[in-house]
Amino acid sequence: MQPGYISLYRSGELKRRAEALEARLGSCDICPRECGVNRLEGEPGFCHSARLPIVSAVCAHHGEEPAISGSRGSGTIFFGNCNMRCVYCQNHQISQNWRKQQSREMDFHTLAERMLYLQDELGCHNINLVSPSHFVPQLVRAVLEAVPMGLRLPLVYNTSGYDSTKSLKELDGIIDIYLADLRYASDRWARKFSWAVDYVEHARAAIQEMYRQVGKLLMDEAGLARRGLIVRHLILPNRLAGSRESLTWLAEEVSPEVTVSIMSQYFPAHRASRISSLSRTISSSEYSEVVELVERLGLENGWVQEPGASDNYLPDFEREGHPFVCPKSPLVDGC
Ligand code: SF4
Repeated sequence: MQPGYISLYRSGELKRRAEALEARLGSCDICPRECGVNRLEGEPGFCHSARLPIVSAVCAHHGEEPAISGSRGSGTIFFGNCNMRCVYCQNHQISQNWRKQQSREMDFHTLAERMLYLQDELGCHNINLVSPSHFVPQLVRAVLEAVPMGLRLPLVYNTSGYDSTKSLKELDGIIDIYLADLRYASDRWARKFSWAVDYVEHARAAIQEMYRQVGKLLMDEAGLARRGLIVRHLILPNRLAGSRESLTWLAEEVSPEVTVSIMSQYFPAHRASRISSLSRTISSSEYSEVVELVERLGLENGWVQEPGASDNYLPDFEREGHPFVCPKSPLVDGC
């Protein structure tokens, strides 16, 4: 199956999309914050990111879902900065340290070369764009550069879910696999713990748009994802993720056939250790409650991370070479 962006490149549509998205950087409404700043002139919005992409790490990632990591790893590009500010962010070194990250701006041709490096030298199965929501125009421009250089891997849009449907519509046919978080069912907790206003409405609309574009997950004969939506749900302590509401909504309003990835790896990283309700890992009863819920709702497609995953999943972006201690550590079991 050939990724859709190749035919869009040939028809000229990929170039048109890149230009349309770039024009919006002049009064930025790329994500739901709609800051209205002129990023083309370097004016900082909430995400502290201007015209060029910020690339904080490039590596083969072996700890994603089995259909994403496969045997050779997912070709992961970690974008710097973020349009959310989660107090427990495990990537806070690159998502919330914007002065340092601004020094990691990269031109589009170099980013395209990094994609080719992941494809041709590391042999990865896909290009996994992590925290892309504030860099949608930049990722399309980089793909436009990379196609004539030989890029042919499926693109994974790996997002916290705080996405603009207007921007997502421009990705229709470009992104093959959406890997989207559904973090909260309460705007109160989303605002308090992630500085995200109206998260529930935006994330749910984004997930519905993603499902409209790519549908349920299709895998090849080797079990690798080729196209479709995977929704990740990170269980938070004290039921702060609203697992019952979010997963019920997913089963009833999207589809019980949607692929879900239930994550138990929560760790009180960054500032969370100082917030009493978030200062511990999840309990076994909190874990079992969500696992039982998934079964009851008939969400049969996907994976449930084993309990105790928080022990070995913390990246360190200051480490030389690879942000993960044990890059070959698949942490999820099929359900
Ligand atoms: S992408 Fe950045 S500048 Fe643009 S609306 Fe979102 S947070 Fe604001």
